[in-house]
This record gives sequence, C-alpha cells and structure tokens, in this order.
Amino acid sequence: MSRLVIISNRLPVTIKKEAGDLIYHPSAGGLATGLNSLDESFEKIWIGWPGQEINDEWERATVQEDLKKDGLYPVFLSQQDIALYYEGFSNKTIWPHFHYFTQYTSYNDDNWEAYQAVNRKFAEAVIPLIQEGDMVWVHDYQLMLLPAMIREAFPEVSIGFFLHIPFPSYEVFRVLPWRRQLLEGVLGADQIGFHTFGYMRHFLSAVYRICGFEHHFGMLTVGNRLVNVDVFPMGIDYEKYAHPEGEKQLSEASQKIVALSQQQKLIISIDRLDYSKGIPQRLRAFASFLQGHPEYHGKVSLVMIVVPSRANVPQYKALKHKIDNLVGRINGEFSGFDWAPVQYFYRSLNFGDLTTLYKAAHIALITPLRDGMNLVAKEFIASKEDSKQGVIILSEMAGASNELTEAISVNPQDRQDITDALIQALNMPPEEQRARLESMQEKLRKYDVKNWAANFIKEQKKLMESQRAKI
Ligand code: UDP
Repeated sequence: MSRLVIISNRLPVTIKKEAGDLIYHPSAGGLATGLNSLDESFEKIWIGWPGQEINDEWERATVQEDLKKDGLYPVFLSQQDIALYYEGFSNKTIWPHFHYFTQYTSYNDDNWEAYQAVNRKFAEAVIPLIQEGDMVWVHDYQLMLLPAMIREAFPEVSIGFFLHIPFPSYEVFRVLPWRRQLLEGVLGADQIGFHTFGYMRHFLSAVYRICGFEHHFGMLTVGNRLVNVDVFPMGIDYEKYAHPEGEKQLSEASQKIVALSQQQKLIISIDRLDYSKGIPQRLRAFASFLQGHPEYHGKVSLVMIVVPSRANVPQYKALKHKIDNLVGRINGEFSGFDWAPVQYFYRSLNFGDLTTLYKAAHIALITPLRDGMNLVAKEFIASKEDSKQGVIILSEMAGASNELTEAISVNPQDRQDITDALIQALNMPPEEQRARLESMQEKLRKYDVKNWAANFIKEQKKLMESQRAKI
C-alpha cells in the first residue's frame, strides 16, 4: 500500500497537561478533514508539533507511544524553539512580509538560525520514518526549508509542498536577506502548490530572477529534476457548513443571535486578530456608512467576532487596542438607547454558535487587506445552502475572490466602495441573492477540501510515475 507522509507545523491534536495528566484534544481543522478523506488506498502518517513543551524523557516516550496508534509522530519543540522559530521567524518575518506588511518584517539573525535548526529537527524526525515508495507532503510557511532537507537524504522520494499563505510579488520578496535559501528549500519538492494563479506567478518570477530557473507552463527544471508548480485553491468541508449537525437545543447565545436577526439586518465580520484582516479599515468604513446613511440607524448591526491570536507579538497587542478604541468611538457616537451599531466579541465561537451566526446573518463583510484564501467567506456561502438568502461583500485581496466571482467585490481601503457595497447588499432583491449564491455554492460543493487534497495528491502521483518511467 502507498503511504502518504504529511508534515505540518502542528499535528491535528493538541496535548494539554491537566492536573499532571496528559490530555489529547483532537482538532478537526480543514486540512485534517481533507487529508482524512483521501483515498483509503493510502496509509497516512502525520508529523508535527503537538502544541505543548514536553521535556521529561518518560513523558515524551508515553506521548510517542500514544500518538503512534493514530499514525501521528510528534516533533518536540522547546519554549525557545517556539519563541524564535514560530513566533519569531515564521510569524514576525515570513507572515508580515508575505502579506505585504514589510514595515512589520523583522530581520533577526537569531530567529533565522532557529528557523533553520527547527526545520532540521523536523527533517530528523521525518527521515527515519520514510520508506521506499512513500509520498511526502510538506505544509506551509513554517517549513519552507524542509523539502530540500528531505531531498538531500532521499534523492528519489516524491515530495509535495503547499503554501497556505500568499506568495508576494518579486519586488517585495527580493527584500528578504534569506530569499535564496527559502526558494532553494521549497525547490527540493517535486510539486509546489498555491491557492491562486497570482501567487504561483510571483513564485515563478522570484525563482527565475533569484535562482535563474525558467519554467515552461509551470514546469521547472531544477538540476536533473522536474518540478511542477501549480494552482490548487483550497476548499472547505461543504456539507459540514451546509448542514451543520448542531445540538437540537440552540445555546443561549445562538437563540439571541436568531432573535437579533429578526429585529435587525445583521452584518457579520469574523476573523482572527490579525493586521492582514483589515479590521480597523472595516470599522472606519462602517462608521462612514453610518455617518452618510442615518436612515439605517437602528435597523442594521455589525456583529464583529475577533478571535484572539498571537497575543505575544507586539503588533497584535497594538491592533487589539486600536479595535477596542474604534468600537468604543463608533458605539459612543451612533448608539441609541435601544440600539448599538457594533456588537463586538473578542473570543472564539464554538461550532454551533458560529454556524448559527452564519445562517442568521444577512450580509458577510469580509475585507482583508491580504489573505491567502479566507475560508470564512466560503463557509458563510455554504451555510446558505437551504435559505439561498444572504449577500457576501468580499475584498478583492482575498485569495477566495478569484473563485467567488458573484460576491460584491471591494477594495478594503476604499470606504466609499464599502459603503456603496453595503447599500447594494441591503437592497439586493431576493432573486438576485439566490442566483449569486447558487452559482458560488455549486463551485464550493464541487471543489471542496476533499477534492483539493485528492487533486494535489493525484497530480503528485502522476508526476512520480512519469519520473519513475524515465529511470
Ligand atoms: N473559526 C473558528 N472559530 C471562530 C471563528 C472562526 O473556528 O470563532 C474558524 C473558521 O470556521 C475558519 C477559520 O477559523 O475555518 C479561519 O480561517 P480563514 O481562512 O478565514 O483565516 P485564517 O485564520 O486561517 O487566517
């Protein structure tokens, strides 16, 4: 049986220490769903960090043994590794830079050293597990050096790499002192995937200008190997959001959401706390809509969920402060005794409340300044499977906007554009809402996350077989 060796920064499980015991919490993120659905003819193993520092040798052995039963192999990272490789190079250098926030890019050699060392740690964990005939699939920006490290140990093994965030224009990418090493790391793979054609084009241009390799229809020749660079837009678990299996009894929060949606037009805004999401810009645009359109006062509410994230990074703290202030100012200025325009929640929602909110909302206002894909946009559309009513306003800077062409598209920096979009959405006839949703739903149903994973692997397998045939 063929084996698929998956490597990502995080395992699809989190270990927590509770009262001295090790507790395993599985996490069913999109990636795990897609990969689990892959053809049964694959045996799958997964390598990654389990989300907890474990130093005791005996505890490490226990964790290894427990996880092995599910095909999971932990890479143990220290606090220092996490601080420098994950919070440092990954989230203070690559993340801002690849999202065009070059003013936030940190140029820190210690973080770079740690990034190399931790990628090496992953390689050391993976290499003993690889067997002849395996396919390897490396995920995301935390592990860009890993494909080449595995290639060095196994010149023949088939390696895939998928980048879940944008790849920036060459003019931005070239600024990084480590640009060549990052490209050479990724080029250790046989197949390299991106969410959009634009990211792929930027990558190919960077490879040409920095490494000198030309491509032919996305196929690069790197030494004596062919490397396929292609677009694989990630989908969602459509059914899960179209027909969420909720508890029969709605939670108190869900009941309040439903009640509110019967009195008001609900506009939702849901993101992790991140400067790439354009939350302050969205709030300012909403304030300008309220300013210019008093006829909607008391009739429209913005329900804004901000999920706490990366609280140790200074820019995230500053952003939280900015959002708190803006919400206070807007509510202070426009609220009536029986209405507040912004309902703001700084917390994450459980699945039941999240899907109730998606279903109850009239409009989703999703305006990131940059976003690799944006799955919230896709989940909102899927949640309208039964009602066929709802409107999405989507930033043209989100990867998802390439597929969701029936969304109202906006420039996230343009307040007037967002105001106009809100007016259009609030007045969109039901038949038009239905037509737009149906068209987008059809695409999302067809290209769901299972299809995404299956397609990536199918292409990689084809490549592997054609390489073998040449030997
Ligand atoms: N999400 C969640 N709880 C919440 C809000 C959002 O689990 O309270 C999920 C949401 O369902 C989506 C993911 O978080 O799958 C966010 O993914 P997206 O691509 O939109 O943005 P990212 O956070 O990856 O930048």
